[in-house]
Amino acid sequence: MNQVKKNKVKKVELPATLKEAVQARNETSNSILGIDIEHLKHNLDLFKYSLDYAEAIVNTVREPLVILNKDLQVLTANRAFYQIFQIPSERLENRPFYELGGGELNSPKLKKLMQRVLNKGISFDDFEIEYSLPKTGKRTFLLNARKFYRQINATQTILLALEDITEKKNYEKQKDEFASIIMHELKGPVSTINGYLQLLDAHLTQREDKKLLEYTQSIDVQVHRLSSLINGLLNSSKIRAVGFEFHDDIFEISDLITQTIKDVQQTSTTHQISYEGINERYVKGDKDRIAQVLTNLLINAIRYSPNAASVIVTTSIKNEKIIISVKDFGIGISKINQKKVFERFFRLNTSNQETFYGVGLGLDISSQIVHHHKGQIWVDSTQGKGSMFNFSIPIYRT
Ligand code: ADP
Repeated sequence: MNQVKKNKVKKVELPATLKEAVQARNETSNSILGIDIEHLKHNLDLFKYSLDYAEAIVNTVREPLVILNKDLQVLTANRAFYQIFQIPSERLENRPFYELGGGELNSPKLKKLMQRVLNKGISFDDFEIEYSLPKTGKRTFLLNARKFYRQINATQTILLALEDITEKKNYEKQKDEFASIIMHELKGPVSTINGYLQLLDAHLTQREDKKLLEYTQSIDVQVHRLSSLINGLLNSSKIRAVGFEFHDDIFEISDLITQTIKDVQQTSTTHQISYEGINERYVKGDKDRIAQVLTNLLINAIRYSPNAASVIVTTSIKNEKIIISVKDFGIGISKINQKKVFERFFRLNTSNQETFYGVGLGLDISSQIVHHHKGQIWVDSTQGKGSMFNFSIPIYRT
């Protein structure tokens, strides 16, 4: 095969002057006009192999993938896309993406995001849509998009991946409903135990029975733990399942921060919480719930910094939002776990579970509250040095 190619090269007739110019090179190597044919062929094979390889991967993944041109028309799609959406290729190619289905994709917000991908190269993740499929009915998808440069005719395209999260969502909903029922059932007996405990306490105080009073106090601590756990679970599943009731107050945020710090400070003899107030800034939202977020962060900051003595609260303003930050000097969180701590029931494998008592609900509830207020919540942390939890809330302008 190589021999055949070599012979072919030698047969090419070059003009006399050009012949001389390239003669030295051509004599020893298999080249024409200074281009190594064998090398070129090898690269072409490699390119073809890469292309086949990429195509095989794209057609094997279960997630539907689709490539759109700059007018948001479909250029091509993978096998999963055709199978799931049941659209024949002749009806799909060159059609505007937002015309597919029954108008579910025709969202101005989605179009705007796609334009941002094309014009500014800003990718997006997790844009949720509902789409009715011919066989399986209404499904929920998460859309992720990336800009993709097509070398062939130097055009900008978008690679769009769709993830079907219907099952996951249903499962979450069932879990919430289940947790909600169990917690409601538990609430009754726990409050009865609490009632009898108070009676017993009063009785023993009257009799001045110090020994038994010590026992009832221990029971009291555990009953309190149990009811705060139940309330936490109820809050969490309520917010998700039926939507939590949020009040709309307009209030000065610095006052709320000062008051919340004062309340939490009373519960700690080990840590000093410092705060430098800001000028008057108003926000609109549920005052008690925002205080709950700050309380959660402060309690965590104290709990996860057993060898430190201070917690620092600061505020800053960015993009019309006030950012409230709680900094501690504790155990910190590794990079890999920093996103996960906001997931429900996520707890790090701490060696001493007793010291770090908790169930992994506080940050889940906090992030739901913050997102309800159109804010963000995130953490900056260095393992072994400490963490800074931050959340933002839009400033209210009259
Ligand atoms: P809980 O503290 O009840 O377990 P959270 O949802 O408040 O639940 O926190 C989830 C997990 O995040 C905790 O178990 C802990 O591992 C980690 N975490 C939270 N706050 C901090 C902090 N300030 N420093 C280090 N780890 C933290």
